[in-house]
Amino acid sequence: MRSAELDEAERIICVGTGIGGPENLAAIEALAKAMRTQIGATRRVVDQGWLPRHQQIGLTGKVVSPLLYIGVGVRGALNHTIGIQQADTIAAINIDPNAEIFHTATSA
Ligand SMILES: Cc1cc2nc3c(=O)[nH]c(=O)nc-3n(C[C@H](O)[C@H](O)[C@H](O)COP(=O)(O)OP(=O)(O)OC[C@H]3O[C@@H](n4cnc5c(N)ncnc54)[C@H](O)[C@@H]3O)c2cc1C
Repeated sequence: MRSAELDEAERIICVGTGIGGPENLAAIEALAKAMRTQIGATRRVVDQGWLPRHQQIGLTGKVVSPLLYIGVGVRGALNHTIGIQQADTIAAINIDPNAEIFHTATSA
């Protein structure tokens, strides 16, 4: 994925370390293809080399403004969520009901 595409994307699935490991990226990529979304990443994912730096969203990454952002295994640290404040709808998948991302996610 190119960073320019991420900047302009209407839909983004963002990968956090909660996906478990790079071996699970194929499932994310299949979902992204089906939903015609771009793929973003947290800094921790990038630092671990699972995805390239230009896909990082946040304070030291890209600021994005999609219609829909879906964080998968993303904790929701401020350094990350500062990059998604302009998203219309923020959804999150996280096993921790107290994860910070749910403070940023759009209420039903
Ligand atoms: C100066 C500075 C700048 C930074 N800039 C950025 C930045 O630009 N962008 C950025 O993203 N970060 C940035 N960071 C890092 C940021 O503070 C966080 O450390 C990082 O965003 C955490 O990444 P994460 O959510 O992938 O990982 P973690 O903090 O490890 O969170 C993983 C989450 O996955 C969940 N999880 C675990 N298992 C599952 C499962 N099976 N299914 C679903 N969820 C699961 C956990 O409950 C947890 O909430 C910066 C930090 C500093 C100090």
